This record gives sequence, structure tokens and C-alpha cells, in this order.
Amino acid sequence: MLHSISLKDQDTKKADKTTKAIAKKLLYAMPKTINHYFPQFKRYLRQIEDCRKRSEYELSEILTGAISLFLFKEGSRNAFNQDRKDAEFVNNYEKLFGLRLPHMDTVDDLFRAISPEELESFKIKLIENLLEKKALHKWRMLGKYFVVAVDGTGVMSFDKRHCDKCLVKTYESGKKGYFHNVLEAKLVLPNGLAISLATEWIENDSDNYDKQDCELKAFHRLAERLKKNFPRLPICIVGDGLYPNQKVFEICERNRWEYIITLKDGNLPSVWEEVKFLSTLQKENRQKVIALKQKKPTEINYRWITGIEYKGHNLNWVQAKEGKKKYIFVTGMKVDKKKVAQIIASGRLRWKIENKGFNEQKNGGYGLGHKYSEVSLTAAKNYYQSLQIASIINQLLELGEKLKGRGITIKHIWKNLLAFMLYGKIDEDVIADSLKKRIQIRLE
Ligand SMILES: [Zn+2]
Repeated sequence: MLHSISLKDQDTKKADKTTKAIAKKLLYAMPKTINHYFPQFKRYLRQIEDCRKRSEYELSEILTGAISLFLFKEGSRNAFNQDRKDAEFVNNYEKLFGLRLPHMDTVDDLFRAISPEELESFKIKLIENLLEKKALHKWRMLGKYFVVAVDGTGVMSFDKRHCDKCLVKTYESGKKGYFHNVLEAKLVLPNGLAISLATEWIENDSDNYDKQDCELKAFHRLAERLKKNFPRLPICIVGDGLYPNQKVFEICERNRWEYIITLKDGNLPSVWEEVKFLSTLQKENRQKVIALKQKKPTEINYRWITGIEYKGHNLNWVQAKEGKKKYIFVTGMKVDKKKVAQIIASGRLRWKIENKGFNEQKNGGYGLGHKYSEVSLTAAKNYYQSLQIASIINQLLELGEKLKGRGITIKHIWKNLLAFMLYGKIDEDVIADSLKKRIQIRLE
């Protein structure tokens, strides 16, 4: 008995040492990752126009401070300010980023004044860098399309009216709730990445409205923004059961985007009728595949129906049956034996916007849902964009450093990473050396 306990103790010590080593390595890899994927990071930040009269800090220092609030997954401005009181933390930060660390009140002052469009433009420049480097091209659908998932989520909620743009919901009890929700277009990849390409807030113009803003209305604006941000990118939109409708098909076709949209039982009754009718004529459009899922052979039955007319759109219906589960989509893309599996796999990437996109940002330490600013909606939107930028960097970092499958949670590694910032010593020569070296990072 005693013997086994002491063995366990040794195991714990060993694991502890590896976690600490991983966290330290990760910290050193942070500036390296930024420099590798975004060599112009600092220059782009300096290009943002400074609207302030005078300040102790440069704009790029304040914005890097804001982004690192989320890089370190501090969870609140107060937590970051507490760490900032520690001289070693500040010292390590300056060695990591080569910039001074401002107080989060300084960040907040700037965020109330600066337009959130500035940070969105900065985010787009970073993603353009990634695309130019062809870092993500390997994961395109059918060797051509980037799969972009659209979905909305709640960011802030209040018991009392917070501003004149709040969405309002009346509960059965007669009580009212006030909300700020966001609609995202995120690039979703089979390697697990979910990267914000465009952000559109779902909000009312004023508190005097006929009909409130909603996700589908916001989709029209999001589509315009996405097209403006990435005019030539070959995109395939994936969306849930809210999205199979004529307007959405029209917007996609006008922008020359492909689409794969979830079709539920209640959606588009005339399409379902045609599926029923055409299925007797297209009996040969089926395929059985045995695929390895978590190392287990799994039977997947594909079925597709082509040439469905719907209000001037030529739709194709695709279905995959896996055990008791069914996945059904409509798409404008040509479907055949060779393409059906990839089309359905891309449609199923949609859940990554919920999981990797929203869930991780809410529960993985980023504090999406935390009110980073209650008083200023502009500031809250700027924090949101900073979070998106930090999340892109951290996802590349986590994937590049192969953190999955080690039996340690990312949350625990970050706890160690912050501890190193407080108790460890960053060697600036090692950082400087690592920035000079050209590196290869594999995002698998
Ligand atoms: Zn509000």
C-alpha cells in the first residue's frame, strides 16, 4: 500500500515538472508564433491612427496590452491589474513583447474612444498574412473552398436597460432582459481552428423600434462585411437550421459563395416534397463507406438528390446516416460519388463555431460573457475584437506546440504559464535568438 502511494507521488511530481516545462516553452513560443505568422504585427498596430492628444503610452503598447489580457486568459481587467502590481510579471512581459505594459484603466480610456472598426481591420490584415503564407490552404474543401460558419451568440446580458441599442426580451413572468449578441463568420478547419473573419453585432438602432434586429437581418450586414473584408476568397458558407431560406441562397449566389446549410424536418416543405418525389427516380445516388472513427470502423450511408427547384435556386439535398444519427444539408454545389463525403464533412464543421468558437471563448479562460466594460458599448466591442485576435494567436500556438493528447488540460497549462510570469525569469537573449531563426510550424 505504502509503496504504491509513493509511486503515485513520484508520478505527480513528474507530471508537475512536465506541465511547468510545457508552460515555459509555450511562453517562449508566444512571441515566436506572432513573429512567424504575423511579421508585421507591430507595424500594423502602429498604422492605427492615434486620436488622443497625448499619452504616456504609445497606441501599439496599449493595444498589445489589451490583446495580452486575452492571450494570458486573465478573465478580467482586475485580475490583470493585480498581476501587473508584481515587478517580475511586468519585467517578464516587457522581455516577451519588447513593449511596456499599461494599466488596464489606460486601455479602457482608449477603448471608449477608438472605433471597433480599427481592431477589426487589424484582425483582417493578420488573417490576410495567414492566407498569403498559405498556412491554411491544406485544409480547404475539395482543394478550393474555405469553409466559413455563421452563427450568433450572447455576449452581455443585463436586468435593466443598459443602452438604447439593447435587444429586449420579455419573459413569461413579465420581467424584461436586455442583451447584446453578436453574429460571427468564422473560418472553420478540420484541424480544429476557428478564426473570426467578420463580426456583426445584433443590436437595435435605437430604443424606438418597430421590429427588433435579429440574426437573419444581421446576416445581410455580415455578408456585406465578409465580402468587403475578403473579396476574392473562395468561400463556402455553412449554417444551421435558421439559414435555409431564399434570401440566404440569394446572398451567397450574388457573392459567388458556395453554401451547405442544415435542413431540418420543418424547413422548406416544398423541398422535402421534391426530395420524396425525386428519390424514386434517383435510386442510384447512394454510397456506403466504412470509415475509421476514433479507430473504430464505422458504416456511413450517403444519399443525395439533385436538381431540386426552389424559387429560382437549383438545390441539391445530401444526407449521411451514421448509426442512429442523420446529417442532412441543402447545397448549391454539384454532388456526386466523389464529392458527397467532403461536402457533408464540411457541413458538419459547423459545430466547431459553437464548440471551438463560442464555448472555448466563454469557458476556456477568455471570459466571453464577462462584462469587460459595462458603461461603454464601444469599449465592450473593442474588448471583444481583442479577444478574437488573441484567440487566433493562441489557437496557432496551441496547435503548433501540439498540446492535444498529452493528458493535461489547456486551462492547467495556462495556470502554469501565468505562474511562470510571476515567479520565473524570461531570458531576453533566448527570445531575441528565437526571433532571428526561421522556423517551421506544422498545424496538425
Ligand atoms: Zn445595451
